[in-house]
Amino acid sequence: MTFQAPKGTFDWMPPRSEWALAVREGLSAPLRRAGYGYIETPTFEDTALFSRGVGESTDIVSKEMYTFESRGGQSLTLRPEGTAGVMRAVLEHGLQGGPLPVKLWYSGSYFRYERAQAGRYRHFSQVGAEAVGAEDPALDAELIVLAADGYAALGLRGVRLLINSLGCKECRPAYRAALQEFLRGLDLDEPTRRRVEINPLRVLDDKRPEVRAQLTGAPLVTDHLCGACKAYHEEVRGLLSAAGVAYADDPRLVRGLDYYTRTTFEFLHDGLGAQSAVGGGGRYDGLSEMIGGPALPSVGWALGVDRTVLAMEAEGLLGERPRHLDVFAVPLGEEARRRIFPLVSELRRAGLAVDMAFGGRGVKGAMKAADRSGARYAMILGDRDIEAGAVQVKDLTTADQTAVPLAEVVDVLKGKVS
Ligand code: AMP
Repeated sequence: MTFQAPKGTFDWMPPRSEWALAVREGLSAPLRRAGYGYIETPTFEDTALFSRGVGESTDIVSKEMYTFESRGGQSLTLRPEGTAGVMRAVLEHGLQGGPLPVKLWYSGSYFRYERAQAGRYRHFSQVGAEAVGAEDPALDAELIVLAADGYAALGLRGVRLLINSLGCKECRPAYRAALQEFLRGLDLDEPTRRRVEINPLRVLDDKRPEVRAQLTGAPLVTDHLCGACKAYHEEVRGLLSAAGVAYADDPRLVRGLDYYTRTTFEFLHDGLGAQSAVGGGGRYDGLSEMIGGPALPSVGWALGVDRTVLAMEAEGLLGERPRHLDVFAVPLGEEARRRIFPLVSELRRAGLAVDMAFGGRGVKGAMKAADRSGARYAMILGDRDIEAGAVQVKDLTTADQTAVPLAEVVDVLKGKVS
């Protein structure tokens, strides 16, 4: 019997897996330079953290969570997103009592039981950032700029930024009521009608054409913002422009999670088909209170690693990433292997990238492996070389070969490579 990765999951395999690493590195580097500290939280949390934090009425909580009962009878859930766990950790460690904002970044796996398709997986990977405990338009703008810089550093040119404001607890209720009234007059199926009553903003996010067609005249949140929210949003937009980050206003942009307030944004890439969002986030001033903490206005984002790699592929950025290897060692026989093995270790400790032929292959197979490895030099040791106390060093780009005394080969190769 053989096994396959579960539906909606896949393996990152070399050499393509190098790009997943490069994306994690590329998206997190701007955060580290901006004072964000690294946080790692558990892959599973109390189920109630998500149902309260993300929201009962969201698709994520109502349909997509991997929930299980532990042997101790506790209901646990594989994290469908990162923010709730980070906020839980901030509160648990009392960081809100220290200097604010608390700026954190993370990278890891997330799990949603979604309809699997290209770019939409049940196990996916994100780099995320959260700035907790400050209400300052410069903080919203900082995070958006850092995400844009991350994509740009990876060479991506086709990432578009959409922004919107969802208002606050002062102005949202009136907008919600106006939207509800509009939506109640539409021809909608039963589940959508129920959604109108529980979470009408989410209906704006409905992707079905028959629903979309009816939404054209829906009231827009931007027409209902209070003075403070309007001013805040203007400030964020001004700071983005000042930092040279292009954006488009999208008054219909809502996000699938309940905790968002004020600034929301999404990064899209047009080379990805239906699943075009490569990242998104926003301000979530109410989350801390929803999970039992004090008022802690915060802002954050999560960028999809898998989709960012797909976007890079769509832009032709995934050329061969040559495996960087300095030396490939070829022992011909058991005694040669015994002699060459410590040399390989020594070269690696000296900082060189070194691999060797394993499995006792003949000279032909081993040299083929050396060529395929992409190494600059081969270090070949046969019985005759051992007798002569030497090793053959072959430059694989020119095919020049010279005998070097065994005792000197480490220094000679170090000199050649440096
Ligand atoms: P969200 O928390 O849904 O806003 O997700 C943030 C980002 O994570 C999205 O913009 C995607 O790039 C990525 N993402 C979310 N869900 C998935 C998924 N099921 N498969 C792959 N990437 C995802």
